[in-house]
Amino acid sequence: MRRFPPRKTICLKLLLVLWGVGVVSCSSPDSPASSSASSPAETYIRHRELTAGPTRRGEVLDRHDSILVATRPVDLLTLPLRPGLDSVSSVQLNRLLGWADSTLERRIATAQPYAGARPRGPVELVLTPAEAARVRRHQEDWPQLTLSQRTMRTYTGRTAATVLGYASANAQGFLSQAKRYRRGRFYNLRSGGVESYYNGILNGHRGYLHPLLDARGQRHGTWAADTVFQEGQDLHLSLDSKLQAYAESLLGGRKGYLVALDPRTGEILCSVSAPTYAPAFLTDPDEAGKRRELLEDEDMPLLNRPAMLANPPGSVFKLVNAAIALQLGATTPATGFPCDQSLISCVHHHPEARNLTMALQYSCNPYFYQVMRAVISRVPDSLATDTVAARHANLAAWRHLAKSFGLDTLLGTDVPRESPGFLPTPAYYDKARRTPNWTYRSIYSLSIGQGEINLTGLQMANMMAIIANKGWYIAPHFVRGIGTTGQPLPRFLVKHYTLVDSANFAALLPGMLAVMRRGGTAEASSLADVGIAIAGKTGTVQNDEGDDHATFVGFAPADHPKIAIAVYLENAGFGATAAAPCAALVIEKYLRGSISSPRRKRWERRMQYRHRPYR
Ligand SMILES: [Zn+2]
Repeated sequence: MRRFPPRKTICLKLLLVLWGVGVVSCSSPDSPASSSASSPAETYIRHRELTAGPTRRGEVLDRHDSILVATRPVDLLTLPLRPGLDSVSSVQLNRLLGWADSTLERRIATAQPYAGARPRGPVELVLTPAEAARVRRHQEDWPQLTLSQRTMRTYTGRTAATVLGYASANAQGFLSQAKRYRRGRFYNLRSGGVESYYNGILNGHRGYLHPLLDARGQRHGTWAADTVFQEGQDLHLSLDSKLQAYAESLLGGRKGYLVALDPRTGEILCSVSAPTYAPAFLTDPDEAGKRRELLEDEDMPLLNRPAMLANPPGSVFKLVNAAIALQLGATTPATGFPCDQSLISCVHHHPEARNLTMALQYSCNPYFYQVMRAVISRVPDSLATDTVAARHANLAAWRHLAKSFGLDTLLGTDVPRESPGFLPTPAYYDKARRTPNWTYRSIYSLSIGQGEINLTGLQMANMMAIIANKGWYIAPHFVRGIGTTGQPLPRFLVKHYTLVDSANFAALLPGMLAVMRRGGTAEASSLADVGIAIAGKTGTVQNDEGDDHATFVGFAPADHPKIAIAVYLENAGFGATAAAPCAALVIEKYLRGSISSPRRKRWERRMQYRHRPYR
């Protein structure tokens, strides 16, 4: 734990002489002293004087001011190493602490960084205040135990681990374990969350003066600019910790993500990266064994999936392609295409899509194959005869518009190691297909959001915010207020406009509403019974390595959106049956506070039972 100097030391002159040099001669041409020298022979000493130091590390609070992370005294019980506790004492200590018979043994094992390792030093166990009080009352019976208090960074809950993260100063044990682990395979997958991203703001800064002093202690100007003192600042997150806990309870034990944000502000309401784990696992001294499990887990719970992992978006990307086709004049909302399965298979049996609304409602693959073909095979006036050049120009035009959705670029979300995702360029296909003469037939996967295209979860949720806002977004962010300013970082107040007109976003809405209605792909997840109209889109992402991934994106209420959501469940099969119910439950919980329909109550219980969080 980092310690700050107490207030008493403020204004104490710390004669810290920097860079081991200390004494500079004013005759040196690049010395800052040379300009203020009174005598060419005199030498000045560079001083650094502390004016004030921060007294606290800021706390992290949720959008309703519940404290999520704070620096607090924690009770630690140190067990003797040699001789260790005998079995009789172990039984008695379990009883004293109110634990089950095997708890002490298990907790000692969990505190070891390697499976089956014997303790190499005294074991420290974190106790609750009630447990510490029991030990304190019976301290004289237990002379071999040491009870101490240490000021530590503590998490008040067990959720939002990847959002909250850790300051590296508090996670040295984890970082050294991670570095060693299988030659650091997981080291690059770690993410320190807001604790790391805002570390400087949470810690504050010491204030320093930098005077040049002569031999008599007289000042002669300064050798560097003063450093302004800054107290450690609190972070007010946009996260709703109850909604976060609820969403984690629905998909904590699965693999995937759920991101919900307020489209009007870009404030992230919840961000689940599953499998989940408790944030204290990475920092508590007695959780080395949990850290080992997390590092070993092939499902990679340490990865902050919504920010760091970019996946093919699947059918939900038909929305972006449709908006771009409208913008480029390649199609209109009234354009119909046959469900021609010789082009690409269609998973749904449905009436022919005579317009965009029906195509979205049935998520017709051949329809969107033909939409994208209309985009790529357009013949721009200037290129009437050269179809290779036209294809290149059309793909570049598609990409230019898609990029304005914040794709293939960092959104700038306040979390470390955000991935930019990927949109293929014409040059990419020239190289990948080993010829510039590639045809639409060799890149058509883009039309259904498959192939080379990759989006992060943040970009998926942001895509919904863009459609909800009919054309603009504010970069998704976790911190909506720093300290007492009540303001986020300045970039989170900036509206970004896409290159697609609002009318072309409005044209998507009837189809997204139809998705949730009778005959639509997500009709079972409709919230019409509680008066909430969701605009949504399901997706199934083909996965060559196993079961398909299921996605759902949407926003609600459709006419005045307050929540935009993206759900991605790896290896979960069809989007409508797996991902859409999760989204509907989170939307109802956020907008209504509770789940009212008996059917959705059953879904809730089933998910909470089957997909228990990792802990
Ligand atoms: Zn079809």
